[in-house]
Amino acid sequence: MSGPTKLQRVAENAPDHRVWSSQIERGFRWLRFQSPLEHHYRHHHLKSVRKRVVICLISMIAFSVWMAANNRSTDAADAESVVTLMDQLSTYLQRPMSGLLLITLFIKPLYFRFWLQVAPIGLAISGVFGGLSAAESVTQGNLHAFVTMLTGFLGLYMLVGLLFWNVAAVGMIITVSYGLSLTHHGAPLELIRFETSVLGVVTVVALVFAYTLEHSQRLGFLQRRIMQVLSSVDSLTGLKNRRVFDEELESLWKQGHRDSNPLGLLLVDVDHFKAFNDRYGHQAGDRCLARIGEVLGDSVRRPLDIAARVGGEEFALLFYAATPEHVVAAGKQIEKEIRALEIPHADSDNASTVTVSIGAGQIQPRPNRSPESLVKQVDQALYQAKAQGRGRLVWFESEHQLGNEVVAAVRGS
Ligand code: GH3
Ligand code: MG
Ligand code: MG
Repeated sequence: MSGPTKLQRVAENAPDHRVWSSQIERGFRWLRFQSPLEHHYRHHHLKSVRKRVVICLISMIAFSVWMAANNRSTDAADAESVVTLMDQLSTYLQRPMSGLLLITLFIKPLYFRFWLQVAPIGLAISGVFGGLSAAESVTQGNLHAFVTMLTGFLGLYMLVGLLFWNVAAVGMIITVSYGLSLTHHGAPLELIRFETSVLGVVTVVALVFAYTLEHSQRLGFLQRRIMQVLSSVDSLTGLKNRRVFDEELESLWKQGHRDSNPLGLLLVDVDHFKAFNDRYGHQAGDRCLARIGEVLGDSVRRPLDIAARVGGEEFALLFYAATPEHVVAAGKQIEKEIRALEIPHADSDNASTVTVSIGAGQIQPRPNRSPESLVKQVDQALYQAKAQGRGRLVWFESEHQLGNEVVAAVRGS
């Protein structure tokens, strides 16, 4: 099954950078983020450890099969073909568990949904029964079994992609059950004390390591997200910046071509903004742009649509698979709402408040066209809006340039 497309990922409502940075300020000493950040982190974590987990689990299973084969041939040599309780447990519990883990690992939706629940349970069960059989061997004088178990135990801490709390719980269960198994098999007290203390020390060291590692991984994750958001956002308006607009245009263009969906575009330019700055000052100009940015940001509600600041006082809005009526209605609404802000502009020759001119258009992406052609043509519509007196929307309607799918003229205000 294929993962989410880039567009679906874009559509995922990622929390903005303030959410990520406030999590850093608040701290996460219990290694848990606030919802929905925790969900995002776990998904990222599982994605980044999957390959390692596959290799680790297959090696662990291969190792245990090899060990079992070895034991069996020793048993046969001793002519002791008694089916022990351990064999039965291994057949009926441990092997199905390994199978379940492998299935979960290889079916991606199952992996992302259940690994952090299934893996600790599976590993605890395997660990407990591995410990039981190791305790049996150790009590019979085979100290290798303890070393083998310790190695498996370390693998569990380091390699199977569990989170700290999973590791802590599983480690505790295995250590305690191993101590109990030794007692059950009548091991000398000194041996029990020695082995459980070694396991205990290994657990503590591994947990300190696991905690530190997960803490710094979580911090790095938050920092990377913040950087990602900041590098894609225009700091004055909070809208997407030019770079992201170009990338999204390219990507929506390809998607539109694949799915036969048109792309709509609005180019919005503030009227007489140089004069506004000259009269009211640059800072007032910035505040004006920020308020306009807010209106534009609120006007894109569908997941794949985007609003960006593409130049000083120029903005662009992309509409994926929207009807021309929708694109025009959105543009007209924007024009109306910016007028309704009633930001005084004494030096404008078309109104007493700040207005915008809007070029609008739509195109069906095809191989013989480019995203730039859409931008160029809508830019011409914007130019016409300026020429016709500003404070209006003009729909690009040159049929021979855009092709038949350009809707019949939807005239601007
Ligand atoms: P028109 O109606 O033809 O668009 O006229 P205009 O004055 O808006 O267009 P022009 O391109 O001549 O001027 C754009 C102005 O926008 C010039 C610049 O001072 C201002 N500007 C660009 N970026 C910013 C910004 O980040 N902050 C502020 N305050 N002003 C900016
Ligand atoms: Mg301009
Ligand atoms: Mg302008």
